[in-house]
Amino acid sequence: MLYHSTNNPDHRVDLKEAILRSLPPDNGLYMPDTLPTLGEEFWKGWRDLSFREIGHAVAGAFFGEDVPEDALREIVDGTLEFDAPVVSLTPDDHILELFHGPTLAFKDFGARFMARLMAWLTRDEDRQLTVLVATSGDTGGAVASAFHNVPGTRVFILYPKGKVSGLQEKQLTTLGGNIAALEIDGTFDDCQRLVKSAFLDRELSERLNLTSANSINLSRLVPQSFYYIHSARQIDRTPAFVIPSGNFGNLTAGLLARQLGLPVERFVAATNINDVVPRYLESGDYQPLPSEATISNAMDVGAPSNFARMQALFGSSWEEMCDTIDGLAFSDEETRAAIREVKETLGYTIDPHGAVGWLAAKAWRTAHPDTPTITLETAHPSKFLDVMEEELGKGSVEIPERLAVLADREKVATSMSADEAEFKDWLNGQ
Ligand SMILES: *Cc1c(COP(=O)(O)O)cnc(C)c1O
Repeated sequence: MLYHSTNNPDHRVDLKEAILRSLPPDNGLYMPDTLPTLGEEFWKGWRDLSFREIGHAVAGAFFGEDVPEDALREIVDGTLEFDAPVVSLTPDDHILELFHGPTLAFKDFGARFMARLMAWLTRDEDRQLTVLVATSGDTGGAVASAFHNVPGTRVFILYPKGKVSGLQEKQLTTLGGNIAALEIDGTFDDCQRLVKSAFLDRELSERLNLTSANSINLSRLVPQSFYYIHSARQIDRTPAFVIPSGNFGNLTAGLLARQLGLPVERFVAATNINDVVPRYLESGDYQPLPSEATISNAMDVGAPSNFARMQALFGSSWEEMCDTIDGLAFSDEETRAAIREVKETLGYTIDPHGAVGWLAAKAWRTAHPDTPTITLETAHPSKFLDVMEEELGKGSVEIPERLAVLADREKVATSMSADEAEFKDWLNGQ
């Protein structure tokens, strides 16, 4: 399979280059030349397949030409060492819990798959691979966990100072070994810009053998489409998916699942006040903006990096995107009220990101009362303990052991401004 840039269909590369280089030199994003579908045979029996069997089929559809079947199975099975259960709050209101992995957020799926695929792609090389990643909260922890102690790799994580939760920061800054954290005096968009600048610097990028672990990397998206199929098979009617979104990788993965043949009634993009995509769907006008801090911080993105892929999937047609995706945005105040409402009326503890999704699902079902919704619950509530305890009271959220142990570990991070020259200087010294 060949991959092309969203900016130039004639710029084509193979799988290894698309995954390891992550970003085409023209600043577009890689897309498969032909979007795979799963055949009739698969869709005849899909409701009876296990999570892993779905993973094997989807990964095979994307990567089967380039990676032998047994290697791909191992990559999928190593990724899916935990489940993604569906919790039904009412017969129409379903929650897909994506936080049962090691770092308690859905990013574990993408990061674990990517680390394993990269290790396979570089199995015969002795050059060290340097993974660069910008994080607004959860990506860094998932990538750090997925690559920790993987031989031949090191990871530099850029995160915005003061804008990630205390425990999220501990997930990035306490592993040591081949993982280093850079605390950037700026926003997530600054971190993302710095990462991009390093990639676009050909010489630096070659010398350090740089690769990106952000959702611009296609290998993170493919495993995220597994759970769309896995959850939909458990619901008796065709659902709408509601996706709390920031960089729109998760939503793009849903679009890939639909492309594979999954019946989906609708995708609902749920955002906080960083609402460039809902606004675009409303007006047809795409206006990236500086991001604003909210209590659903992993969605504080003003220039969503996967938007180019979404456009590519709809032939750049606003009308076609509107036929498939609705957008809804909510304030912090509404989100806080939703956290209380879900607890009080449904007995479920939902994190601020999931709460944005739940609000969108509720509003959407009011207009479409016959369609069940599956809302992606993207992180465990204990990752956002301050907000949860403000709304539900002290001790209201149980902290899983694997997160609790981090509280006492010492943070180690390098502080840096958001200046490109300073960042590149530092990189050059590594
Ligand atoms: C990353 C993240 C999101 C946003 O996902 P995108 O794929 O960037 O849209 C939402 N919620 C949580 C908890 C996250 O970590």
